[in-house]
Amino acid sequence: LNPLYAELPTTIFEVMSQLARTHEAVNLGQGFPDDPGPEDVRRKAADAVVNGWNQYPPMMGLPELRAAAAAHYRHWQELELDPDAEVMVTSGATEALAGALLALIEPGDEVVLFQPLYDAYLPLVKRAGGIPRLVRLEPPSWSITREALTAAFSERTKLVLFNNPQNPTGVVYSRADLALLAEFCVAFDAYAVCDEVWEHVIFDGVAFTSLMALPGMRERTVKISSAGKIFGMTGWKVGLVFAAPPLMKVLSKAHQFLTFTTPPNLQVAVAYGLGKADDYFTGMRADLQRSRDRLAQGLAGLGFSVLPSAGTYFLSIDLAAHTNAADDEAFCLDLVRTHGVATIPVSAFYAQDAVKSVVRFCFAKRDETIDRALERLAKVP
Ligand code: PMP
Ligand code: GLN
Repeated sequence: LNPLYAELPTTIFEVMSQLARTHEAVNLGQGFPDDPGPEDVRRKAADAVVNGWNQYPPMMGLPELRAAAAAHYRHWQELELDPDAEVMVTSGATEALAGALLALIEPGDEVVLFQPLYDAYLPLVKRAGGIPRLVRLEPPSWSITREALTAAFSERTKLVLFNNPQNPTGVVYSRADLALLAEFCVAFDAYAVCDEVWEHVIFDGVAFTSLMALPGMRERTVKISSAGKIFGMTGWKVGLVFAAPPLMKVLSKAHQFLTFTTPPNLQVAVAYGLGKADDYFTGMRADLQRSRDRLAQGLAGLGFSVLPSAGTYFLSIDLAAHTNAADDEAFCLDLVRTHGVATIPVSAFYAQDAVKSVVRFCFAKRDETIDRALERLAKVP
């Protein structure tokens, strides 16, 4: 047995969702919306199944989806991508991450990562033979400093794995932050694997810039997107990978022997969905922003210290201000067992030196779900 896997605990998302079922809790842990997703996109997928889109699609993805993706990102992020040479479809962002790390890392290469980190990152980096170099971010700003990057980057750095907008913090890093990171990537001739799955889920009119758009980054960035997040249908494992042709050639070799293809009916529907009018995307943002505000105001009204969230489905509270609990994990376990609300302890996103006072809530829920959770939270001593 490979000890890397034998010793891995079950992911916190699965653990908390299981506890939520056991305790009939309101599940604000694992990040998925209550709503079923846009009906026209779901209908396209259903029609595609009935109409025979059920055999192997091309390895790189359906040409109509690759063209739709190139058009979508030209429109939304001003990126010029060649659909034939710079776009690939994978089975979720998770496959894209695994493939990119397997394709780029050689044993002994150093990989710069940021804590809190999405839980799939570290096992994938280690399995690929990478040596993690962790940059520790802290509440309330979770800001990236020149000092921290100077300590993390070295001549042995092969790549940086960066998530923006960031799960679990809800931070959308600014162009200035990205420029700092880009400066280090260029100076150390490192690749960047940029997990941008939350790129459409941003609030308050905040601007999203892809790391790929920064000077010096176009040729060295692998951009990863996810239809599951773009359309709020998280079980739809359709990922999109964007990279310059020399990189894409290598990434496609990893993809061909991980999954090779992704269900064609879903690809047909995602191709259609990416072309939806701007209203759909701005409307989704507005709806989620209202839900964010409802939960944030409710939590603040109960005396919790709520950290800002500019993107993703998540907001956090900092227990440091809450006298009865200083340990996020103990707080979350008690909350789900005793009070029937499932959340995620942010310490689970740290490999070492964890911040132990922050708890993540998913607000991508209907008003009645949020209100039910708040009623239960009101009973927390
Ligand atoms: N990266 C991040 C930061 C995520 O939050 C998620 C899903 N929540 C993923 C990757 C996985 O995306 P997918 O479901 O498309 O594999
Ligand atoms: N990305 C989702 C979250 O952060 C969960 C994904 C998963 O369950 N693996 O909640």
